[in-house]
Amino acid sequence: MTQSTEMKTAIVTGGASGIGLAIVEKFVQENIRTIVIGRDEQKLQAVREQFGELCLTISHDLSDLAGIPALVERITREHGRIDILVNNAGINLKKNFEEVTDEEFQRILLTNVTAVFALSREVVKTMLPHGNGAIVNISSMASQYGLPKVIAYTASKSAIEGMTRAMATELSPQGIRVNCVAPGFIATAMSAKALDSDPERKNKVMGRTPMGRLGIPADVADAVYFYATEGARYVTGTVLPVDGGNSIGF
Ligand code: NDP
Repeated sequence: MTQSTEMKTAIVTGGASGIGLAIVEKFVQENIRTIVIGRDEQKLQAVREQFGELCLTISHDLSDLAGIPALVERITREHGRIDILVNNAGINLKKNFEEVTDEEFQRILLTNVTAVFALSREVVKTMLPHGNGAIVNISSMASQYGLPKVIAYTASKSAIEGMTRAMATELSPQGIRVNCVAPGFIATAMSAKALDSDPERKNKVMGRTPMGRLGIPADVADAVYFYATEGARYVTGTVLPVDGGNSIGF
């Protein structure tokens, strides 16, 4: 495929549902060629059909770390230079602290942290020769709060924020900006699982959200677009809460 000089190429992990899908929609609207990575082939096909030729999809389980170098090599061979990486794919586990097994803890950390590291490392190798690139990681307001029953998820999202700052320090001198968006409760399948089963918790969340509503995926997508593009050219190593004011902590 030929690449016009202006058109940018982005990778969005987990871009076939929820927040990732809204990021893909925003990027495609803004004429960014977007490569979606996910596991569910049916969902990937639906995304291709929804967004047309600016949207490409690759089926890959990111917890298969060994496959990541070949995945990135394939993307650059088939689609050219990667300008933007959005590490959005993530999984959660809601369980009492004392019941979480070592395997479950490691499974969450593998997808939410180690795979983010491994994919970023391979993509950064391709960005360095161009001296340009933007990486946006998706953490969560869970990183700032001691939310109950999500120990592995919370640990993973705190790790993402630390990794964002460390990557930014090391890579920004070489033209690669790294930032993080920390969503509050956003209405997606993931949050529905946590909130619909627990109306008391849902009321608590709404009660402490000054804007008085759950977020929608497009709220996060707009913030990701800002970080990923020229408007954020002097911004790196930051974490932006997109949470309706939840993090004010009133
Ligand atoms: P969804 O469950 O709707 O989407 C998660 C996406 O991640 C899916 O498309 C899934 O793809 C993909 N994914 C998961 N594991 C893998 C894997 N091993 N390899 C490839 N893809 C994978 O969740 P949300 O849209 O709600 O969440 C997106 C991100 O936002 C996550 O990082 C989440 O932690 C974060 N977040 C969400 C909040 C919310 O309230 N919704 C709040 C704060 C943060 P597939 O279905 O193909 O497996």
